[in-house]
Amino acid sequence: MANIIDGKKIAAETRAEIAAAVEEQKSRGITPGLAVVIVGENPASQVYVRDKHKACGEVGIYSEVIELPETTTEEELLSKVAALNNDDRIDGILVQLPLPRHINEEHILNAIRPDKDVDAFHPVNTGKIMIGNPDFLPCTPAGVMVMLEKSGIEIAGKHCVVVGRSNIVGKPMAMLLLAANGTVTVCHSKTRDLAEVTRSADILVVAIGRADFITGDMVKEGAVVIDVGMNRRADGKLTGDVDFASVSEKASYITPVPGGVGPMTITMLLRNTLTAAELHHKS
Ligand code: NDP
Repeated sequence: MANIIDGKKIAAETRAEIAAAVEEQKSRGITPGLAVVIVGENPASQVYVRDKHKACGEVGIYSEVIELPETTTEEELLSKVAALNNDDRIDGILVQLPLPRHINEEHILNAIRPDKDVDAFHPVNTGKIMIGNPDFLPCTPAGVMVMLEKSGIEIAGKHCVVVGRSNIVGKPMAMLLLAANGTVTVCHSKTRDLAEVTRSADILVVAIGRADFITGDMVKEGAVVIDVGMNRRADGKLTGDVDFASVSEKASYITPVPGGVGPMTITMLLRNTLTAAELHHKS
């Protein structure tokens, strides 16, 4: 039976470290600030935004939630982003996705000042990750790296297989594992014989958005398995992309859903806000 990587516990430890660092910044007259912008009334987004605001308060980060109506135009949102770009109280800006369909997400994300882009979705920041010189790391893959590190899992020289190639999770995850000297393979929906590739993984990270898709027969004995997936079952329960029951019989380490990668994502947003505040007070 695999060791469970407890995301809640690691997130709590990391948040305590962040709270101490915020305290230290405040002693130097710096209060890190985050603005979270939400457009419309998507219930899931409203929960995420509330959680982010609450998490900021718990570690001493100043935060503002800007709620805009569904009818907000792209121009109005761009002008809000421009105002936040110029607001000295705000070190980090996050625009909650998805946006209403009449707004082009790329236009908005590209308008955020790269040194305030705490989600690390701006092309400048993705480029910096690519060349191995990042200011911020995207929150979910960064959270996975912290979980591996805090669990004492060596990455160098290991075969790391990432299933999923989204800009938010899969691609940056592959870059971070590569930067840590893993030998990385990225799989996607067109990968031939996926099970053969996943069975060759020492570290398997799954981010596809398909409930319980990776089963025990697709995993090597002793592999480390990180389940990024968050899927709602018909009965309303949250489940990952990995079939926990069969995979935990073979893996050496595994993350549960819920209580695995999820709690780390907001924690990394807090860390990026702290980093942004430090950047802004350096110059
Ligand atoms: P996307 O839908 O953007 O990307 C899914 C990726 O999975 C694509 O690259 C797709 O391939 C690949 N894929 C889909 N089906 C298969 C398949 N059968 N075999 C192999 N690859 C497949 O999803 P995200 O990356 O945004 O999210 C992935 C999951 O992670 C979701 O469940 C999401 O809810 C969760 N998530 C969790 C977070 C957390 O904090 N824990 C944060 C962000 C996401 P192709 O490119 O070929 O289409």
